Amino acid sequence: MGDPSSMKSHTTSVSKSTIIDLTHSLISGGVPACPGHPSYAAHCISHISKGECSNVHSLTLGSHTGTHLDAPFHFFDDGTTVDQLDLSLLTAAPAVVVDLRHKKLRERITWDDIGEHEARMGPGVAVLFCTGWSRDWGKPNYRHHPFLDPDAARRIMGTGVKVIGVDTMSPDEVTDEGDSGCVHRIVLGSGGIIVENLNGLENILEKLNGAITVSMLPLRLEKCDGSPIRAVAWSAGGTI
Ligand SMILES: [Zn+2]
Repeated sequence: MGDPSSMKSHTTSVSKSTIIDLTHSLISGGVPACPGHPSYAAHCISHISKGECSNVHSLTLGSHTGTHLDAPFHFFDDGTTVDQLDLSLLTAAPAVVVDLRHKKLRERITWDDIGEHEARMGPGVAVLFCTGWSRDWGKPNYRHHPFLDPDAARRIMGTGVKVIGVDTMSPDEVTDEGDSGCVHRIVLGSGGIIVENLNGLENILEKLNGAITVSMLPLRLEKCDGSPIRAVAWSAGGTI
């Protein structure tokens, strides 16, 4: 036990107003899903309004519903599953947010767009790509997003980064034939984690100052390849 007054100086708190929610709302019947993935649905199966003692919902969802993460097992049978992920990578993790809002439809994101942030990348850091595409969530345009060049992905992982996040449906190029999967294989193949369908990353750039911290925690789904998450960001230097 230490002196309580000295312990207090190590206590951190975050004001509610400083929390930026980076998650899309899950609306029953209204969540875009990849072909072959289940549609999200929530049905109330117990109603206080009908005289029952509580409200309870039944949920139907997939491991890649809404804002979610991909574990290595998504692409590799011997890869880490969601329940085995290192939560320190996803809890109050320092984040680098790369502003890519100038990128156009299906434009490639190269190392030239990212390299200036290299000095801040390293083990334990989450790198988030802000294309502004989350505004088109649910619209036909959403699938025509900018995508990460595989060589850039390799260089990012080479810095020791294990978590990348995008405000699009995939870090990879998505065509009519589907997702190329190249960046998925590079990131998940090196034991990394991919966060997809983040919402409103531009709010971090516009509303937060200084060092940025994020939490993006999955459900503890045993032997599963991915999980919906609640993603939030706050300024590490603001109100601590
Ligand atoms: Zn996914």
